[in-house]
Parts: sequence; C-alpha cells; structure tokens
Amino acid sequence: MAITRRRILNVSRHSCFCTALLLGVLFDRVAIGDMSVQGIQKLFSNKNPRNKGKRKAASGAMQNRLADVSAYQLRERFKTTAARTGTAYAKTPERWSTSACPLCGCANNVGSAHWFVCTDCGCQLDRDGKAAAVIRLTDMHRVAVDEARDAQKRWGSAAARNPGGNVARLFHQVLAMAKEGDLAGTRAAIGALESEEGGAGRAEVHAGQ
Ligand SMILES: [Zn+2]
Repeated sequence: MAITRRRILNVSRHSCFCTALLLGVLFDRVAIGDMSVQGIQKLFSNKNPRNKGKRKAASGAMQNRLADVSAYQLRERFKTTAARTGTAYAKTPERWSTSACPLCGCANNVGSAHWFVCTDCGCQLDRDGKAAAVIRLTDMHRVAVDEARDAQKRWGSAAARNPGGNVARLFHQVLAMAKEGDLAGTRAAIGALESEEGGAGRAEVHAGQ
C-alpha cells in the first residue's frame, strides 16, 4: 500500500513539474485559481468549534490527503517555474468559477453535473473548461482595472482640468471598459488616449517623479 501511494505521489509530482514548465514556456501570463487548502483544512478541522463532537472533523490522514490536492501542488510548483521563465503569475479568486456563466455572467446551480448548462442564455460547456474560462476572464478583468488605474495616474488630472475635452472623454471610456472587464477595449481606449495626449501625459509623469 505504502509503495503504491509513493508511486502515485511521484507520478503526480512529475506531471505537476511538466505541466508547470509547459505553461511557463508557452504563456506570458498564467492565472491559477486560489483554491485554499488551508481553508478546506480549517473547515474539516477538529479545532473548528462548529465540528465539535461531529464525525466530520478530519483525521490526520485526511488532512494530509487534502495537502496532496494536485491543484495546490501545481500552483506551488508554478511559482518556481514562473520565476525562471519570466511568466507573470496571478493567483485568481475561483469563488464563482463553478457557478458563473462565462457568456452572460449569470449564476447557475451546477451540482455535480459534468456539463454546465446556463439557465439564462442556454450555453452548454464542459464544467472544468468553463471554470478555467471564468478564472481567465476574472484575471483579465483585474488586468484591465490595473491598467485603468495607471491611466488614472497619467491622465486623471488632465481629464479633471477639462471635463468637456477629448482627454476626459477617452479617459472615461477607459474606466467604463475596465469596469466591464473588457481588456481589449480598455487597451484600445488607452491607445487612443496615448495618441491624443501621450507626449503631454508622459511629460507630466516624468515631471512628477
Ligand atoms: Zn449564460
């Protein structure tokens, strides 16, 4: 039994290593769900007052099994690989990844079904692939908000000085696109701002440094 378990662990570690390396070589940015093993462990722990006297409280073996969860292993492995391959690594909330529809954003009760069927827009997707898509969209939303924040530093004051001007109009478009989580739209609006006011904006930033 012990030997089999050790072999399985070795295979699991090796596949984690290969997957992490492949992700690092292929992509500039990787978003990995923030599944918290500590959170799950706490939920089942004997120390959790809710579990007092219940069989739910997990044994040491159960706690160890939770620590073996491969998504957690992959994330830990990837931190090291990402530093070597220069890949941006983003720990992304996966709270809604199971229930949210990537097309319309509406929340669905999936249960244990393998296929996700949206009750609102009717789209049908593989459960795991869909969850990955939602994690990716969540990460893109965050990048859009970060880039809009940079735009605020560069052009926010110029937009406030002349609320009726072109800079203000484009700047508000950047904010609106970022709020929607539209990364391509946010970048397009930032590009338009750059060609409108780029030189002046950059000069302002450098003067402020
Ligand atoms: Zn939908």
